[in-house]
Order: sequence, then structure tokens, then C-alpha cells
Amino acid sequence: MIRLAARPCPPELTPEVQAALTAKYLADKTTAPWEKAYIEQELLLMSHDKCCYCECHIREESKYMEVEHFFAKRWHETQVLEWTNLLPACKRCNVRKSDHDCAIEPIIHPVQNDPRDHLKWRAYRFYDKTQLGKRTIDVVDLNDLERLVKKRFEIGGEIYRQLDLLEDIVIDFQKGANTSIQRKNKIINWIKTILKEAQPQKEYAATAATVLLNEPLYQNVKSILQACQIWGTEMDDLEISARAIALDLF
Ligand SMILES: [Zn+2]
Repeated sequence: MIRLAARPCPPELTPEVQAALTAKYLADKTTAPWEKAYIEQELLLMSHDKCCYCECHIREESKYMEVEHFFAKRWHETQVLEWTNLLPACKRCNVRKSDHDCAIEPIIHPVQNDPRDHLKWRAYRFYDKTQLGKRTIDVVDLNDLERLVKKRFEIGGEIYRQLDLLEDIVIDFQKGANTSIQRKNKIINWIKTILKEAQPQKEYAATAATVLLNEPLYQNVKSILQACQIWGTEMDDLEISARAIALDLF
């Protein structure tokens, strides 16, 4: 889970449209008048095409986006078309959260709260720093073994594998075994590719950033590249943005 930046209300959702669609829902609660392309597109932009809770991609064939009402429509029916109450979620998270009433028992709001303040990380699972974090883990089932923990483990394993391979090449480069321009460019592209896996737009980015920045192999590769003067500002920038979403270990 990472913090998302708020997006402006779509211009199509004027106060009049909002009122008319809300009235439509109140008249027939089997309808879903929030299912509009202009709403869904803006929500997907906000979350980089990911679920706002678990960070799975929701544009893949097997998954699709559901418009999630942070304050559940069952208890807050006049807010069903309120822009700030709408979030993009996967079916799994939406079903898990169900009718949970966030007005009575709040969970992390991915726009209003920074998950890093409420969650910490160990062995591909989220743990709580606060009551808000604890409730979020429970309500959305953020440590679902089959659907989430295994995926995080795969991503962490691939980052480790890439760093392990790159470290050998970087050590050879430092020793002067192969210092060609082609080799130098390969190293630069490789470390940037690894860092790009830990950016907010990537699937399970909180996990990727946490694994990468806490991996001793990464620190070793970085220090060798710095010593060889091929660590550049572009890598620094990528690292800074990964650091902004990485969770604390404990
Ligand atoms: Zn989800």
C-alpha cells in the first residue's frame, strides 16, 4: 500500500450530475450509477492502474476495477457519488472490506493518510504501527497468503536475483576486467531497470521499494558504482522516489 495523490473531480461530475446520480441510486439501490468511464479513468490515473489497497494491477484481463466507496454505501448512501469518497479497488479488496463502516472504525485512507505512518514490514507481510494500520490489515486482509504474500515474495525474489547477477558484473568492472563503454552502459541500464521496479507506478511497489532499499546487495552495488563514478543523479532521483514509498522494517 502506498500513498496516492488526490486527483481533481472529473469535470463531467458537476454538482447537478452528482445530485441526479445520487437520486437515481436512492430510488433504486440495485443500480450503480458511479460506473462511468470518466470516473473510472480518473481513479485509475490516481492509482497508476492499481488497487488502492493491495497494489495489484486492475487493468489485467483477469481483474477489473471496482469503484470503492471509502465510506460504505450501505451506511453513507448520500455520499455514493461524492468524488472524495471514491477509490479504485480490486474485487478482492472490495469484497473483503464489504460494508465495513470507516466512519466508526477508520482504516488507512490511501489519499489522506500515508501508509508508512501506520504499517511496517517483515518477511513480505505488513504489520501494524498504529491502530489504524492494524484495522486496515484486518479489514482488507492485506496479508492474504495466496493472493498477496506469494506475489510479494516473487517480486522480492526477482529483485534479489537481479542484484546478485549485477553485483558480479559490477565487481569485475571495478577490478578492471571489463571497462568498455558497452559494459558501463549495460550496468547503468541494469541498475536503473531495478530501481524502476520500486517506483509508485509499479505493481506491489511498496514491497519492491522496501526489499530493494534494505538489501545489502543493493548497498554494495551502489557503493561500487559511486566509487567508479558511474552512479548518477538519475539513480539518486529513482532512489528518492522509492524511499518515499518504502515501509520501515522491524
Ligand atoms: Zn486490492
